[in-house]
Amino acid sequence: MDKMIEEDRMCERDYPVEPYKIKSVERIKRLSREQREKALKDAGYNMFSIPSEKVFIDLLTDSGTSAMSDNQWAGLMTGDESYAGSRNFFHFAETIQDITGFKHVIPTHQGRAAERILFTVTTREGNYVPNNIHFDTTRANLEIRGVECADLVQEKAYDPEADILFKGDMDIDKLENYIKDKKPENIPFVMITITNNSAGGQPVSLSNIRNVSKVCRKHNIPLYIDACRFAENAYFIKKHEPGYSGKSIPEIVKEIFSYADGATMSAKKDALVNMGGFIAVNDDGLAERLKNNLIISEGFATYGGLAGRDLEAVARGLREVLEEDYLEHRIGQVRYLWKLLSKEGIPLYAPPGGHAVYVLADRFLPHIPRHAYPAWALTVALYREAGIRTVGIGGVMFGKKDEKTGKETFPELELVRLAIPRRVYTLSHLNFIADAVIQTYKKRDQVKGVRIVHQAPHLRHFTACMEEI
Ligand SMILES: *Cc1c(COP(=O)(O)O)cnc(C)c1O
Repeated sequence: MDKMIEEDRMCERDYPVEPYKIKSVERIKRLSREQREKALKDAGYNMFSIPSEKVFIDLLTDSGTSAMSDNQWAGLMTGDESYAGSRNFFHFAETIQDITGFKHVIPTHQGRAAERILFTVTTREGNYVPNNIHFDTTRANLEIRGVECADLVQEKAYDPEADILFKGDMDIDKLENYIKDKKPENIPFVMITITNNSAGGQPVSLSNIRNVSKVCRKHNIPLYIDACRFAENAYFIKKHEPGYSGKSIPEIVKEIFSYADGATMSAKKDALVNMGGFIAVNDDGLAERLKNNLIISEGFATYGGLAGRDLEAVARGLREVLEEDYLEHRIGQVRYLWKLLSKEGIPLYAPPGGHAVYVLADRFLPHIPRHAYPAWALTVALYREAGIRTVGIGGVMFGKKDEKTGKETFPELELVRLAIPRRVYTLSHLNFIADAVIQTYKKRDQVKGVRIVHQAPHLRHFTACMEEI
């Protein structure tokens, strides 16, 4: 190998070099400590209530926060805003057909709209739907229809220390037993989420997808993929699954989708755009029914709640996300931050996943009991320390209070997620984030627990007002 290239490779092993240069920048400001303190107080110590201009580095989510490329921005100018038959729709549909192999493509304004439409058409009350782990909007859109949801991910996914590959895999025995127990005729479809957002952004192996598909075919049950991070998942397969290192990312992606009957996707993740989504299916009759439902709330079948220019940006983003140097950098960033923190003894969910680093907040703050919400407290501490916004995924989000006894039960894991937006932050941002977390860890004894002052009956984490204890 050429010596230069070899040297390049060397440095890429140590840190993720950005495979892009910056053409346009967005100013971010660091408030003073007093200003941050005031912002916290004004926001009721809730990260969702802090105006983004008061945030220095925003790790709240990787959803809709990607930086678009010059090629995508250029595509916006080619937007054809015709009500019906926009040229950008054809580009959008052809791209998705080519990448996934599915026959019909239905645009929606985001992932949850795709879910609602698919579930409205395919499910009825009393049905059962298994997934590795249902994402919250997926679960909500099923439960609202009276469908019972089951999370059949392998048990190890709930063990933050199990440092194993493909932790997002579904447990095939559990799936077989579940189908036997609930009867195939009551299961309108099986879903599998790649990567598994709700537990560490962990990938699912191709052999697992193949085996899930085999079980589904045996019982004549359709399989749909929740495909939000399909390219990130494909990268893990190429890197770590035996037999795939010689395959290209598009080949792996094609194989993933070949085992399914359709997919829903939030384009706000792996399509590298700020808004959008779609449903893709093979069945002609189903596609017809989906389109009929789409028209009621999202729009005509060739725009589905999106502008022509948005469809163009999705089409272009879906090509860019398959570039291997992009994925190597993307997954490399997450791994890099994970390693910096892990080296300093910060308790983390292992191994690093695709889109975020997850801190085990209850171990980070062992002096704060679960009922004083350590994950939430840590989000407050990180903002206070450095103006970094993160999200607590733990007791406030998933805790359930028994109305009679007043006793609260908590989810297994108490996590703070540091989600990394795509193509937004540089290596020095990651270093800054790591330093802030390490700094906070050194003075963790000073971090206080929180109590809820005011909360909404559902999804309370979005609007709750808190105070420090
Ligand atoms: C984001 C997400 C969704 C929902 O998509 P929205 O665009 O936010 O509506 C569904 N499933 C998974 C796995 C997601 O990450």
